[in-house]
Amino acid sequence: MSLSISPWKYGKRWVYSITYDEALADLHRFAIPMHEEYGIPGHVEVVVGQMGEVRNIGNSSFNGYRHMNADELRDLLARGWGVGNHSWSHEIITPEMVDREIDQAKEVLEEALGESIILYCSPGDNTNMADHVLEACRNYGYLGAMSLTDALNLPGDELFWINRTALHDHYYPPFYSAYDPYRNIRQAQAVQGWIIDYCHCPLETAVHPNKDCSEAQLRQRLETVLSEGGDSVWCAVPEEVLSYHLMRRHARIEAVAGDGPEDAGTSDDDGEMAGGATAGGATAGGATVGGNISSQRYRIVLPELPDQVPYRSLTLEANVPAAWCRDPRVTVEEQELAAEVVRPGVLRVTTLVRDGTEVEVRAAPRS
Ligand SMILES: [Zn+2]
Repeated sequence: MSLSISPWKYGKRWVYSITYDEALADLHRFAIPMHEEYGIPGHVEVVVGQMGEVRNIGNSSFNGYRHMNADELRDLLARGWGVGNHSWSHEIITPEMVDREIDQAKEVLEEALGESIILYCSPGDNTNMADHVLEACRNYGYLGAMSLTDALNLPGDELFWINRTALHDHYYPPFYSAYDPYRNIRQAQAVQGWIIDYCHCPLETAVHPNKDCSEAQLRQRLETVLSEGGDSVWCAVPEEVLSYHLMRRHARIEAVAGDGPEDAGTSDDDGEMAGGATAGGATAGGATVGGNISSQRYRIVLPELPDQVPYRSLTLEANVPAAWCRDPRVTVEEQELAAEVVRPGVLRVTTLVRDGTEVEVRAAPRS
């Protein structure tokens, strides 16, 4: 018998998020209604120094479009979206600029939205993922940094280089390409990956074909995620995914001795997670009835969890005898929760967890 933590919340196989850099007000024309229609939350990356203003940044393709203001961003938060810091100025961040671009931008955005900002998103290109920038992100209380590297993120990856899939009409020369609504999905299914798409502001046609897609292409992508993902994809904002990721990586499961003999439990060695996360199973203590083990107790500790983690649930899977799978209940902090039978002998429950939460799994009594 053992208790382990699922690689992703709800036991989902892979994860999908999408980000819209620059947080332009014209997202209301196509993207936001589309998200409402499909029930998928989005995420915007704000150039804090031009919040609410018409964009005026170098020779940006999006100059002339208006950035959302604080009220509009708060409206997105209320719809379940997330907001990240896309720097103060969208310029190349030198070591002298990190206070303004990373620290001050975070504070101003938090003040305007009344919500803590835990994600940095590199403006321009990966130049702004330089060591001094990432070091500042760590020092100023971020929990992750998003890059422009087109790759998946895995359950064991570190979070200060998060990859994003470019959802663009086509790529820059010499790597010409055609739009692919299936991009990275098959691999995400195979390796339990987390896709984060990125684009800017899909309209009738892409504002810049190497930086954006059209609204029709966006719709195709969201429909493909849902049709390929079925019940196996978890669609969530990066903040929630990153929270789960940190909860899983910091959690340790300890067996708690039950009322029965100390040696009633069996040792578990299959707790190692895909992607190298270390939280896993435990050696169980058990209570016995008539010589048979009738319950298992565990304690989950989170000694080093960063204070800023906003969402604190874990999905737990317990390996149990077949008899325990009849109408199963799992007790978390003295509260009985209905558990799901996911495979023969495997129960699953998703629950809020704090440092020291106790979980009891036991045979269900007949009424
Ligand atoms: Zn940008």
